Amino acid sequence: MANADSDVLRVAIIGAGPSGFFATEALFKSGIAVTVDMFDRLPTPFGLVRGGVAPDHPKIKSVTKAWDKTAQNPGFMFWGNVEIGRDVSVEELKRCFDAVLFTSGAETDRRMDVPGEDLQGSHAATEFVGWYNGHPDYAERRFSLDCESVVVIGQGNVAMDVARLLAKTADELKSTDISAHALAAFTDSRVKDIYIVGRRGPAQAKFTSPELRELGELAAAEAMVQHDDLVLSSADVEELVADTVIAKNHELLRELAARSTEGKPRRVHLCFKMSPVRIEATDGRVRSIVLEKTRLEGSAGAQKAIGTGETLEIPCGLVFRSVGYKGKPIPGVPFDTRSSTIPNTNGRVAAGLYVAGWIKRGPSGVIGTNKPCAAESVEKILEDRPSLPRAPMRDSAALRGLLSERKVVPVSFAGWQKIDALEQERGKAQDKPRDKLTRWEELLKAAR
Ligand code: NAP
Repeated sequence: MANADSDVLRVAIIGAGPSGFFATEALFKSGIAVTVDMFDRLPTPFGLVRGGVAPDHPKIKSVTKAWDKTAQNPGFMFWGNVEIGRDVSVEELKRCFDAVLFTSGAETDRRMDVPGEDLQGSHAATEFVGWYNGHPDYAERRFSLDCESVVVIGQGNVAMDVARLLAKTADELKSTDISAHALAAFTDSRVKDIYIVGRRGPAQAKFTSPELRELGELAAAEAMVQHDDLVLSSADVEELVADTVIAKNHELLRELAARSTEGKPRRVHLCFKMSPVRIEATDGRVRSIVLEKTRLEGSAGAQKAIGTGETLEIPCGLVFRSVGYKGKPIPGVPFDTRSSTIPNTNGRVAAGLYVAGWIKRGPSGVIGTNKPCAAESVEKILEDRPSLPRAPMRDSAALRGLLSERKVVPVSFAGWQKIDALEQERGKAQDKPRDKLTRWEELLKAAR
């Protein structure tokens, strides 16, 4: 909201995901006079809640109802379709806002750095996630599900989401908000075996118990766990005793290993202590992945996978690397290339410049983890407030003019609500919560 009053703190938030909204809530609840202008390069808000959370996890997405209310605060303004660093520089923003908070997340993916990683059929899991969630950057992607085996490298919750979606039937997915192009591809899928490969053991797997439990409850797929993989070393036992999630996971894994096979058409294999070596191809397309068996070395909590020299090859037509997300540098803002975060102390980068969420602490935790993280960063803004120099341009008209000169058409929250209404209406006809618009042009058209 335009506010020329210098008693009102003008905050710009870059990134309309969970951290951005949690920070907005904290600012509005702080009791100070404050306005929040939230920027996102997409025409739609909610970040990974819209583009990352699996379509078959609708409960997690219901958090956006609270953010819809937050957005109705008269001090809030959404600037969708505006990329900071491309359309507006950080220096220009600083002239318009007293404080700038970056909540831009971790927009890119980590690599395995093995030969064959860029072959046709080898993809980042994050791209597949974006594609089935209707993210406009991935609408044109094609994932050939015409093979029988798929290997997912990594054992975090993203790997679990990808494997579960591949294992579900079209019937299980059709009433979710999965993108129409992904549902069509999943309907024709020939995939039978999905391997979730971890370089360490079951006590070090990063997935959480509800995700593991879900693998045992699929209509047309069964989870395959080998008894031998569940033998624990004394260091593993120490880790298990210290962490209830590891203990619960272990209990569930033992339960899955004890099941006799039901002969369902699909199988999800949980494979431990195997590290990717190279991806092999026939005619430029993924044919198999070579893995090296590992053993663990080190004390509890710091066990590392060490190659044993023994290799095995899994024939597969698709490989998804699900080895973590990575933050992207923003021109004009410091960046630590090692951790792929913006260096900060409890959320403060410098007076007037702040961070929250994955770009502050790295890609870890669930949606709710970002609430205390954002609150800590807002604390820093409030601490600095008395001494922050007031930005000279205290009116959104200047910014609007700048964008117009650069032919950038921002999408307001009302514009997003038009997209939202259209998607829900299209979804109703198909008995889905929404049918997402997946192309930039259609999103921008709907917002107008
Ligand atoms: P993650 O939890 O950090 O898992 C990354 C996995 O990749 C680990 O198993 C890691 O093994 C492995 N890895 C890393 N580098 C590797 C390499 N070079 N070779 C082989 N394996 C490698 O990351 P994520 O799955 O992307 O998830 C990111 C965050 O989002 C997590 O906090 C997750 O819980 C959250 N999330 C939550 C949900 C949900 O709540 N349902 C859904 C999706 C994501 P090491 O442990 O050995 O490094």
